[in-house]
Amino acid sequence: MKAYFSHIYQAVSTILIGMSITVRSIFRKSVTIQYPEQRLQLPERERNRLFVNMEDCIGCDQCAKACPVSCINIETVKVVPGDVVGKTGVTSQGKKKALHVTNFTIDFAKCCFCQLCVFPCPTECIYMTDVFEYSTYSRAELLYQFSDLTPEEAEKKKKMLADFNAEQEKKKALAAQEAAKKAAETKPADGETKKESDNTKES
Ligand code: SF4
Ligand code: SF4
Repeated sequence: MKAYFSHIYQAVSTILIGMSITVRSIFRKSVTIQYPEQRLQLPERERNRLFVNMEDCIGCDQCAKACPVSCINIETVKVVPGDVVGKTGVTSQGKKKALHVTNFTIDFAKCCFCQLCVFPCPTECIYMTDVFEYSTYSRAELLYQFSDLTPEEAEKKKKMLADFNAEQEKKKALAAQEAAKKAAETKPADGETKKESDNTKES
């Protein structure tokens, strides 16, 4: 009989203990938030997804060289005379752009958010944003393209450079031919040279 009441006492007391914890929690300040409707303020120096402002990128490759996991891939094409990069050909700080950035990808599946690419940038155009929610179902979608040129435009720029280089080579070859022709014309004939030297000896 004693054991019977003891069990009842234990059951009631444990329920009351549990209920008291629950009731106390109702009035305690919440430690969680209703994400995603509510959001915590991010720390001042948080590291999230990178962004590249292509208006200011000069294609110097410094960021790619600094990346410890080689997740930045940059391809550039030299600007030919008469062509300009973008609308103005200069960055917002007035630095002249000499290269078309035909490809600028960052593979965020590899990026470890070390921020080492940010510091060497001479135009401060690569930086961390506050975007951290960009999970996807496919790894391919984590390869971000920042170049503002379409593949067709990039090909056009490459062709312009190839044509320019070919033209330069042609000009060089023509100049070399002209020089050789002039040299042949001004070179005295062998017999003439001998005669001149004999005359000099006699005198
Ligand atoms: S944050 Fe680090 S890992 Fe990511 S792209 Fe920049 S240098 Fe590479
Ligand atoms: S370091 Fe800056 S300017 Fe140079 S390629 Fe990278 S993002 Fe562009």
